[in-house]
Amino acid sequence: MQTRLTVLGATGSIGRQALEVVAAHPGRLRVVGLSSGSNGDACAALARGHKARVVVRERDGEDAVLDLARARDVDLVVVAIPGIAALRPTLAALEAGKAVAIAAKEVLVVGGHLVRRHVPDGAGERLRPIDSEHCALWQCLRGEDRATVESVTLTASGGPFRDAPLGELSEVTVAMALRHPTWQMGPKVTIDSATLVNKGYEVIEARWLFDLPYDRVEAVIHPESVVHALVRFRDGSVKAQLAHPDMRLPIQYALLYPERLSSPAAGFGLAAARSLTFRPIEPERYPCFGIVLEAARRGAAATIAVNAADELAVERFLRGEISFTGIAGLLERALTLAARSGLGAQPDLDAILAFDAEVRRALAAPAVV
Ligand code: MG
Repeated sequence: MQTRLTVLGATGSIGRQALEVVAAHPGRLRVVGLSSGSNGDACAALARGHKARVVVRERDGEDAVLDLARARDVDLVVVAIPGIAALRPTLAALEAGKAVAIAAKEVLVVGGHLVRRHVPDGAGERLRPIDSEHCALWQCLRGEDRATVESVTLTASGGPFRDAPLGELSEVTVAMALRHPTWQMGPKVTIDSATLVNKGYEVIEARWLFDLPYDRVEAVIHPESVVHALVRFRDGSVKAQLAHPDMRLPIQYALLYPERLSSPAAGFGLAAARSLTFRPIEPERYPCFGIVLEAARRGAAATIAVNAADELAVERFLRGEISFTGIAGLLERALTLAARSGLGAQPDLDAILAFDAEVRRALAAPAVV
């Protein structure tokens, strides 16, 4: 049986690697549609080898992206669009009954409650995480009774500044922040990995994918990025998933689920891993991590506001307008805006997008004390 795929955000890092996985399994996977935000030529070039339809959001409009997500000849939609722009296409695909492989964690950060209405059981056949830590949890939890799970641990590489003197963080350049020690990723998620906003988002993602309350999701720094996540059971056993840091592996697991076939990713040997180390997350080094967790505890308004603030903050950092340590300041302001918002606990799609826009407008202006 061949699964027919659409890849939204095909020209990005995850999109391109998804196409490599498809190419490795031509009998099982076929691409019928690709979309990109701009970058029409690159998207068309990627589509050529696959005889797939192409939609470019800037040229064809968002409705064309939604139509591609809902198309009748599609079984599985890979959502690899960065940021909140992925929310509407994800919901459109789920509404149309498609399975979704989701790399856009922001969708769960701002709209996890809306996603779960379509997929009440969380991660599984219809909602497939493409995130190395959540793929690891998904594998460790397979066949286990969820009631026996005590807690889970997500690992974080700690980004390029995990060993930098704290006093130098305000001076780091864009080039330094984009130099991730283990993963090759797009600019937004690379900066989010340096601030650990990404790990905060992954805690929220774990809650929506696996029904885990926040006090049972931990994160630790693990510089080798070999152990991707661990599950602690009530009998004292711990299951972990280990693999080379190569996103093609979690992508393939999601696309072929529940089957395991050989993969283009390199095999794993303990000799290559040498030693595995773990250490706690330092709050003073990663203030953004604490802010995202606080937002998670407060609920939808806070996570929507922090997500909007972070997208804005990363763009401004990449343009050289704010310092690396200035990102946390914008996230703090977002928490204050959320506290005054009056937004309910389960806002609908329009309310989410309206509040997102409101936060971006408010934060684009200088702070009023
Ligand atoms: Mg991850």
